[in-house]
Amino acid sequence: MNKEISILGIRVDNITESEALQRIEGLISDGKAHQVVTINPEFVVMAQRDRDFRRVLNGADLALPDGVGLLWASRVLGRPLRERVAGSDLVERLAGLAAGRGYSLYLLGAGPGVAARAARALLSRHPGLRIAGTYAGSPRVDDDLDIVVKIRAASPDVLLVAFGAPAQDFWIQRNLHKLGVPVCVGVGGSLDFVSGKVRRAPAWMRNLGLEWLFRLAIQPWRWRRMLRLPHFAFLVLRSRVWQKA
Ligand code: UDP
Repeated sequence: MNKEISILGIRVDNITESEALQRIEGLISDGKAHQVVTINPEFVVMAQRDRDFRRVLNGADLALPDGVGLLWASRVLGRPLRERVAGSDLVERLAGLAAGRGYSLYLLGAGPGVAARAARALLSRHPGLRIAGTYAGSPRVDDDLDIVVKIRAASPDVLLVAFGAPAQDFWIQRNLHKLGVPVCVGVGGSLDFVSGKVRRAPAWMRNLGLEWLFRLAIQPWRWRRMLRLPHFAFLVLRSRVWQKA
C-alpha cells in the first residue's frame, strides 16, 4: 500500500481519519511549525495552472484527501486511497482530541461572527475544550501583521484557517514561521458547517458520494466553481489513457 499517492501531480497522503489525528498529535509535539492542507478535486484543478499553489500543496507536512472525487480518481489511476478525510469531520474530531488532551484551538476566517459561533458549537459538543481565540480577519497581505500579533498572543496548539482555497493555504505558507503555532490547517468552508450556518448533506447522500449535489442545491451560486468537478474527471480519465498508452 502506498503511503502517499500523486493525483495529477499533487501529493496526497493515503491515510484514514484516525491516522490523520495521530499524525497531527505527532506534529503538535515535535516542536516545529507544520502546514496541513485538505485537498479536494477543485484544489487539484486550480493547481494545474497555478505553480505557486502546486508548490504550497506539495510542500505541506500533511495533505489530507478531502472529497469523494479524490477517492474515485485514486481508483481510476490504480492507486486507491483508503478513506476520505472530510474537513468538517476533521474539525469535529480534532476538537474531541483537543478536549481530551488539553490542546487549544484558534479559529480564523469565515464570515463575520461565524468563527465565534463555530467555537460555541464545538464547546457545547466537547466540554472542556480550550478555545484560544476566534477572529474573522481577512486573507489580504496587508492584514497579516495584525492577525499574526493576535495569534501569537493567544498561542494556540492548532490554528484552523477558513479563508477558502487557495487564499488560506497561501496565508498559512507565508505566515507559518511567524506564528509560533505547531499545526496550521486550511479548513475551507468547514466553520460554516460546524457553526450550523450552512447545512451539511444528510449522511445517506454523503455515503452515496453526492455531497457536491446537495451543496449545489443549497448554494446554487457555486455552479461555476463546481464546473471544476467535470474538468477534474476529464483530466483524470485523460491521464489514465496516457498511463495505458
Ligand atoms: N472566506 C473568508 N474570507 C475571504 C474569503 C472567504 O473568511 O476573504 C471564508 C468564507 O466565509 C468561507 C470560507 O472562507 O467560510 C470558504 O468557504 P468555501 O466553501 O468557499 O471553501 P471550500 O471549502 O470550498 O474551499
